[in-house]
Parts: sequence; structure tokens; C-alpha cells
Amino acid sequence: MPEIIKDFLPRSLKNQRPGNPMTPKYITVHNTANSSKGADAEMHSRYLHNGAGGRVVGWHLTVDDKEIYQHLPTDENGWHAGDGNGDGNMSSIGIEICENSDGDFDKAVKNAQWLVKKLMKEHNISINNVVPHKHWSGKNCPRLMLGNWNEFIEGIKGASETVDAPSQQVDSETVTNGSIVDYLNSINKDASFSNRAKLAKQYGIKGYKGTASQNTELLNKLKKGKPVSKPSKSIKVGSKVYLSKSASKYATGENIPSSIKGKSYTVQQVKGNKVLLKEIYSWVYKSDVGGSGKSSKQKSKSFSPGQKVTVKKSASKFATGESIASFVKGNSYTVKQVKSDRVLLGGIMSWVRKKDVY
Ligand SMILES: [Zn+2]
Repeated sequence: MPEIIKDFLPRSLKNQRPGNPMTPKYITVHNTANSSKGADAEMHSRYLHNGAGGRVVGWHLTVDDKEIYQHLPTDENGWHAGDGNGDGNMSSIGIEICENSDGDFDKAVKNAQWLVKKLMKEHNISINNVVPHKHWSGKNCPRLMLGNWNEFIEGIKGASETVDAPSQQVDSETVTNGSIVDYLNSINKDASFSNRAKLAKQYGIKGYKGTASQNTELLNKLKKGKPVSKPSKSIKVGSKVYLSKSASKYATGENIPSSIKGKSYTVQQVKGNKVLLKEIYSWVYKSDVGGSGKSSKQKSKSFSPGQKVTVKKSASKFATGESIASFVKGNSYTVKQVKSDRVLLGGIMSWVRKKDVY
């Protein structure tokens, strides 16, 4: 059975986690409509954690052929059904099923059937209230499953119950996740999945997915002390630093608004693992700022209209948040417009981040 990784979105992401209390009466099934390679549950979790490209959207769980990510607790609503304040958005658990071309779609559907059955049981929801997204808004979603919806429903009835094993797994996951999250909170560190993944990397834990055993390993390593290889950053007063887009909390614990991130600031004071940034008069962690070298290099990339550029193969999203189709990658386009960190490409008429073209 797939593992359920609870990776709740922070409450500060209002567009993704509106936080209205909900008693789930329905389960709404979606397809991600993203067949790109690598567009699995983990990627969609990252997408939501990164603010979904400015869109107002959020759902409860994403299922792929290997695992399940949970983004929202099931007693809060999400924006996924396209019916405003109707029952789709306000009373249904939203499940996205991945269709990444490098995954096994049939397996992902099987995993979803197992998950739906489990949720039906937990929340006393009848099979008649398991509905496609189309039920609420008429959208052609889940696009790969509408043609054989009855088959999907029949498969839920026949899905394995395996009540003990998976629920234990989920419990232990929660407990272990909880203890590392509690520990990080207790030392005033960001406990989000993305920061835990960053820490895991620093401490030599490869391929961090937030499993119980990895969390235990990370917790033990964190308690033991500093990572071996991480050089201490020396930052000078008066120097310019770049505040990382992945930074989430000020050193004082408050959330950093996204409008503050991804910009350069002047260092006014340095103290232990923190620096005081002059323009915003706020303490941030050294680990969240980069040297001016990085930012000035980013800034120095200059593009002008009429110039031909190539979209990097490693690029994954347009500046507007949608995934870049694979045929666009590695292709050349003419720059139509240039704006701060992005360029508008002719032919596809889409904004792409400067860092994603060369
Ligand atoms: Zn949908």
C-alpha cells in the first residue's frame, strides 16, 4: 500500500490553505492534467508549497504510482472544485491523481481507489458521494477517467481494505513527523517539509521523502549537532545579500511574506546564525541568505527583445506557474518582452523565467 506523507501547507499560504472548517461529505476526484515527466505527487506538493504560481488553488491529497502526499487536513476546505462556495469546495475532500508520463497511471488509479475507500470509511462517506470534478463545475476532469467512471467506482468497492497495516504506518508517520517538527519548532527552526529536506541534504540523508525512518535519522543527527561538511558562512556588515525564495521564517519566528523574498538587502548587523537586513529591518537566518555574487549574477543576465533564446531542458515551470510542456524545452524562441526576472517568448507567447533560458 502506498505511504501517506503528511506535508501540510503552512497557514500563511492563504490562497492554498483557506482554513475554513469542513466536515467532509464528498470526495472529489481529479487528474492533474500534467503529463510531464516527474510531475508526481512530490512535485505537486512542492508546487503548492511554492504558492502555485500565484493561483488560488489547493486540494487535500495527491496520489501517484508510489506514494500519496497530503497537503491539507481533511477538516479544512480546499479550492479545487470550481464551484465557488458550493459543496465541491466547501464539503469535499479533493484528490488529484497524477498522470506523469514516467509513472504507472493504472497503479496511481489503484492507489487512489485504496485511498478513497479508506477516506470513505474514516468519514462515513457513501460511494454515491464519490464524484468527478465535472460533477461540480462541468470541467472535463478527471480527463482520463470520465470515460470509464463506473469502472473506477467498482474498483473502489473491490479495493483492498488492509485496515491495520496502512493505518499503523500512517500513525507512525504522523508521530515521527510530529517529533521532528516539534523539535525544530522548539529550537525556532522552520519545520516545513522543504526545510527538512534541505537539512536532510546537509546531514547527508539522500532522497529525503519524509518517511518515518528518515525523520528519525534526521532527528538523531540534528540532536547530535552540526553537519560535518557545512562551512560556516561569513557575512560582512555592509555587504549585499540575496534573501532566498525558499526562506520561510524570520529568525524571530514570523513568516516572511513572499514579496520580501528573492531580493537583495544590505546587512546591517551579524549575530551568531542571524543577520539583520537594513531595508526591511528584520533578522533572518544566515542559511536563508546568499552572497551578493549569486544575485548580481542573476541580475546581470540581460536579455533584449528580438534576441533568440533557448529554453533550458531543466526548466519546469513558466513564470506564471504552469508546467512547461516538454516540446518547449530545448527549443529556441524570440524574446518579445523583458520584465524583471522573466522574458516573454514569441511563438508560445508565454513568460519564462530568465534563469530558465540561455
Ligand atoms: Zn479537476
